Amino acid sequence: MLEEMKPMFMHDELGLAPDCAAATTPLLEVKGVTLQYKTKEHLVTATYRVNFEVMKSDRYILLGPSGCGKSTLLKAVGGFLSPTEGNIRLNGVDVTAPGPDRMMVFQEFDQLLPWKTVKENVAFTLIKSGTLRGKAAEDKAMQYIEKVNLAKFANTYPHMLSGGMKQRVAIARAMAMEPQILLMDEPFAALDALTRRKMQDELLRLWDDTHFTVLFVTHSILEAVALGNRILLLSPHPGQVKAELNSTGEDDLDEVSGLRLSDRINRLLFAQPVEDQGGTFHE
Ligand code: ADP
Ligand code: MG
Repeated sequence: MLEEMKPMFMHDELGLAPDCAAATTPLLEVKGVTLQYKTKEHLVTATYRVNFEVMKSDRYILLGPSGCGKSTLLKAVGGFLSPTEGNIRLNGVDVTAPGPDRMMVFQEFDQLLPWKTVKENVAFTLIKSGTLRGKAAEDKAMQYIEKVNLAKFANTYPHMLSGGMKQRVAIARAMAMEPQILLMDEPFAALDALTRRKMQDELLRLWDDTHFTVLFVTHSILEAVALGNRILLLSPHPGQVKAELNSTGEDDLDEVSGLRLSDRINRLLFAQPVEDQGGTFHE
């Protein structure tokens, strides 16, 4: 399994190259991060000494079973939770609090303010964060609403929208802030299968447009293979790094290579013991 932990600019055995953004300095560094929840009775270790690095323009996937600490990791990158051990750095600066440079998109359809229209929802975040005001905020909001193909619904209230449309608004709202990194926590998991596929394609099209950096959490192997250029596999609770894989996303990945990669991830997730950070094995 050691061969899975490749330097990030090597081609992997599928002959796939990582994306062209061959930056040498990571945008995001997660080093030895242990995350715990302290309740009155228990100390829950959600992740244990997790390491990974996200480069600019990566579509970086955190993939692992429910309860392995994916959301907790994303919250820590968001600055909502401090590591018990290790550190998280964005552009070389320790993450200590939430900030507009890291915008989140969640799974739930109720992320939007129900009393505000689509445009007002997107503009509100820009205004409240002090990023833009007045017409400039509205123009920026419309620019991103157009990107997610919702211009016709700019004056519609969330309750009139389908689940997929609400998620598009949430994505537009986060992207309008032009964050350094977009944090997405299973944003398509509550959608029906067909809408989910469509949203994945749309996200890839948006990425083609602006090459934003995204850290995307999922427990779906297919989604990880379709969307990611790099995939971090996490073991079940507490989440530890099992392997890191390079893919190229479905634009470049033919069906056979995609299936091979999915199969390999399946084997890594379900058939092999956890590898610790030193490269040795334990059950
Ligand atoms: P995932 O997103 O991979 O499904 P989570 O990050 O939500 O996993 O949870 C990781 C672990 O931390 C789980 O065991 C979960 O029960 C626990 N956990 C999550 N949130 C809390 C919390 N607020 N208090 C205590 N334990 C929590
Ligand atoms: Mg989760």
